[in-house]
Amino acid sequence: MEIEIFTDKCIGCGKCVENCPGGVLSITNDGSHSCVSVTNKDFCLGCKRCTRLCPNYAIKVRRSPKGENKRVFISPRALFVSFSFLIGLMAILFFFN
Ligand code: SF4
Ligand code: SF4
Repeated sequence: MEIEIFTDKCIGCGKCVENCPGGVLSITNDGSHSCVSVTNKDFCLGCKRCTRLCPNYAIKVRRSPKGENKRVFISPRALFVSFSFLIGLMAILFFFN
């Protein structure tokens, strides 16, 4: 996921930090301005809760270009083939035992 922060719009309210299920965000303060920052980008689930809750449209989340997302995806077909293989193996073991 790509997480973009618009620092000029962020008021450091912390709503996104409190509601992020992945613990991706935190609030930093440079002495004059509190602002959100991304601390654990790899844990982003892409739920966009942060985007929806932000009162100032200061955070944006979008998918990384194809192939850059780190989450592993198992296709339904691969799952079906594996499951069928397992059932077949169990049937063979059951009947020839
Ligand atoms: S999209 Fe979800 S997981 Fe990612 S930073 Fe926003 S609230 Fe956290
Ligand atoms: S909810 Fe928006 S304004 Fe508040 S800290 Fe997060 S990004 Fe900044």
